[in-house]
Amino acid sequence: MWWNQVFEKAGFRDAFQIRDLPDGANPLDARYNVLHWVHRRERGPSVGPNYRDPRTGEIVRAIVRMDSYRSLVNHDIWMGFRPALGQGADATSEQMAMARRRQHSAHEIGHTLGLAHNFIAAASDRASVMDYPVALATLDDTGRVSLANAYAPGPGAYDEIAIRYAYTWFPDAEAERAGLAAIIAEAEDAGLRFITGGHAGPRGSIPDATTWVEGNGMFAALERTRAVRSVLIDAFDERALAAGEPHSVLNRRFAHVYLHHRSALYGVIKHLGGLEFAYTLKDDTLEPTRRVPPVEQRRALQAIIETLAPAELRIPDRVTALIAPAPSGWDSGWQWDGDPAPLASDSGDAFNPVYVAHAFAQETLDAVLHAERANRITHFHATDPEQPSLDEVLTALVEATWVRSSRGLAGGDAAVLRGTQRALLDALLDLGGNENASAQTRAVVERQLRALQTSLRPARRALGSSADAAHRALAHRHIERYLAGEDDPADRPRPAPIPLPWP
Ligand SMILES: [Zn+2]
Repeated sequence: MWWNQVFEKAGFRDAFQIRDLPDGANPLDARYNVLHWVHRRERGPSVGPNYRDPRTGEIVRAIVRMDSYRSLVNHDIWMGFRPALGQGADATSEQMAMARRRQHSAHEIGHTLGLAHNFIAAASDRASVMDYPVALATLDDTGRVSLANAYAPGPGAYDEIAIRYAYTWFPDAEAERAGLAAIIAEAEDAGLRFITGGHAGPRGSIPDATTWVEGNGMFAALERTRAVRSVLIDAFDERALAAGEPHSVLNRRFAHVYLHHRSALYGVIKHLGGLEFAYTLKDDTLEPTRRVPPVEQRRALQAIIETLAPAELRIPDRVTALIAPAPSGWDSGWQWDGDPAPLASDSGDAFNPVYVAHAFAQETLDAVLHAERANRITHFHATDPEQPSLDEVLTALVEATWVRSSRGLAGGDAAVLRGTQRALLDALLDLGGNENASAQTRAVVERQLRALQTSLRPARRALGSSADAAHRALAHRHIERYLAGEDDPADRPRPAPIPLPWP
């Protein structure tokens, strides 16, 4: 009934109602708009399609399908939090799952009312149910994790203005033109933004237009999620299981903990080569485009580098020791109750924390060095020297990884650092050979690879452990092969990307 609140604010009394289907009515009967609750164990999205009269565009029927799988995901998130929440958790698993279901039902119904996604709303005071929300976790003054405000308790300011725009009745075309223009002006004055579809993906350029984030501004979002994640990892143990559950389930529950900052990190990455824009029309007061200021881009670069430190990527031995393979029947067939094991291993039955750290570092660096982003950085700097150059970005990344000494690092951390170094090398080799990377971008990458190769010469290699020396020798050979035009990406083994355990 959230939409009834929205319609009332927009001036329509009791325009939106929900009732049980009348006795004897068939849910396929086109006279009824229906909301189906579908229960299944497999991953499945909820959807809100509608049917329109092609002559007028009028929505004539809506069929929402809400899938129960999302609540299993919510339960996994909550269980991953449980060790940190302790006895006095301020929200139960069911409360959190139902808070999400309310938001989610409103979201899918919003589609049937004609609304598109607004992927910048969460970062603007939870302005719309049409965003993809993540569970907001905060730390209180004593450092305890709170989920009391995990999901918005109602619709937002954008929803009301969108409904007014779509549904307000005007007596004639002229009044409609003026009336709609006034609503848009009001939205702009209120600072309500709208970004949808493909502009919010990982390669996007608007930091706040990122899915699965919470909080106004991505720097604050990353800071908060990193702090919460640290508490979650420190506390993580068997309490993340219910009685009778196998230890294999910890794989996906820990995945939510380990990746708690992932979406906010994507938002921060978008500052680099970032371009804010709005869907403006001629004579609009908003700026059509604006480059992200250089100071924010450099701040983002430092924040990204912080997330790549071994201490951030490491998984405690205590956690590794708990994650066992699934008992027979638990990873497939009728007992499968969700994503089996999002954190893959290259070591068969042994969970490999170094592999997981490498996979996440690879994902981060692949996103930073996406060809379109690298090209934007290159051409922004070419036309405005205040903007960071691609060379500056790459130099900082090489310094934070390859130039950093592994001496003094405990064994596991040294291996994690090697994984991050390797991830940067592979991201550079890929970018240098990417047909979508501009000639300028590829030239800068090649220069960096030559400098890195020089630093990996045999005489310098001898400094670290034998594992370090071998790792550097292989990197040297792969750069050599690249420079000889013989790079073979398939021959550079990479960790598998960690799939999305849905937030
Ligand atoms: Zn949607």
